[in-house]
Amino acid sequence: MNIILLGPPGAGKGTQAQRLVERFGMRQLSTGDMLRAAVKAGTPVGLKAKAVMEAGELVSDEIVSALISDELAAMGSDVGAIFDGYPRTEAQAVSLEAILDSHGRKLDHVIELDVDEDALVERITGRFTCASCGKGYHDRFERPEKEGVCDKCGSTEFKRRPDDNEETVRTRMAEYRAKTAPILPFYEKNGIVSRVDGMADMDAVTAAIEAILNR
Ligand code: ADP
Ligand code: ADP
Ligand code: ZN
Repeated sequence: MNIILLGPPGAGKGTQAQRLVERFGMRQLSTGDMLRAAVKAGTPVGLKAKAVMEAGELVSDEIVSALISDELAAMGSDVGAIFDGYPRTEAQAVSLEAILDSHGRKLDHVIELDVDEDALVERITGRFTCASCGKGYHDRFERPEKEGVCDKCGSTEFKRRPDDNEETVRTRMAEYRAKTAPILPFYEKNGIVSRVDGMADMDAVTAAIEAILNR
């Protein structure tokens, strides 16, 4: 199974991808996570991407498609892929077709998380993750069970993204509207797009996605 989770920043793509990984043993391919790792490691890709990401603009199609291609090449062919935050432009959608083809894969579902833009700023500015295992949390909507301790791995260190501030979020939303939302028709003609209410609580969103995957 190969699926795309599509939605604006803060829609819940990462949260839902982490759950699908745990439940179905699929693999999350997040270009945002890959780029942040590259920035942290100071690789040539990271050096190019850093300022672009801090501004909330899009990194070049060539860079992100190469990251995805390398990651898929390193994956077992029996492992399902969840594309999280990719593709984000029509050029990336076209590249993904070719990349999947070369690995004998095909897209099964494009799941759009439909959210109210007004809620996104609160979601993004309250977001934090475990510094050790990457599990996602929220100041208001998903706190660790024991204050200051990661539910999943027990770490006591958490981090926040430098681009998760109100000003950058506005730019990221505008990028989504201008460049990412327009790729939906590309998939609609294949009849593989499903819409899920991303404003529902996290468990309800997961249930709705599972119902689509089991269809
Ligand atoms: P979010 O989950 O909040 O939408 P991501 O972690 O997916 O954010 O992305 C963070 C930043 O990384 C983006 O604002 C952009 O600068 C860059 N980025 C991630 N994925 C892509 C992509 N597919 N194409 C271009 N830029 C990307
Ligand atoms: P994305 O990957 O689409 O940018 P995330 O999955 O990181 O979004 O979610 C953004 C923030 O909102 C996180 O802090 C997460 O805990 C929280 N969140 C995710 N889904 C929901 C939901 N259905 N209801 C309330 N908060 C949510
Ligand atoms: Zn953890």
